[in-house]
Amino acid sequence: MTVTVELTNDQCEMITRESEKAFPRECCGLLIGTGDDPVTVTDVVIAENVAESPSRFLVDPQCQFDWMRKLRGTSDRIVGLYHSHPNGRCDPSAYDAEMAIEPEQIWLIVPLCNGQAEEIKGFWSRGLDKGFDTLSLSITESP
Ligand SMILES: [Zn+2]
Repeated sequence: MTVTVELTNDQCEMITRESEKAFPRECCGLLIGTGDDPVTVTDVVIAENVAESPSRFLVDPQCQFDWMRKLRGTSDRIVGLYHSHPNGRCDPSAYDAEMAIEPEQIWLIVPLCNGQAEEIKGFWSRGLDKGFDTLSLSITESP
C-alpha cells in the first residue's frame, strides 16, 4: 500500500526556496498535517538545522517540542519532515535511516544539482531499522 501525501505548490516552493538558500548546507523543517490516507499537509515549518556537520541535519528539538504542544487537542499533528541533499542524492542516506525511528512519518527530500533544487522526493518511514517505503506525492494548486 502506498500512502498519498497532498501538498500545495506554495508549500513545495517554500521547501525548494529554503533548500537553495541553505546550500551548500542542508536545511530542514517540519510538516504539519492531518488525515491518514491521504495525509494532507496543512503547514510547513522552517526549523533551524542544529546539526554540527554541514552534511547532516537535525531539526531543532525545541521547535519540535513547541509544535507538539501547540497542536495538542487539534486535528493536526506533526506528520513528518523535509530536508535537503546538497550532494544531489535522491534517496534517504544511511544516516537518514538511523534517524527515522518513528514509523509512518513523511520524509521529503530535496536533491540539489549545483545548488538548484530538483523535484522533491517523498518517503514513508517504516520505523527503527526498517527503512523507507515510497509514497505518492500529490501536488495541488494553492487555494
Ligand atoms: Zn538525508
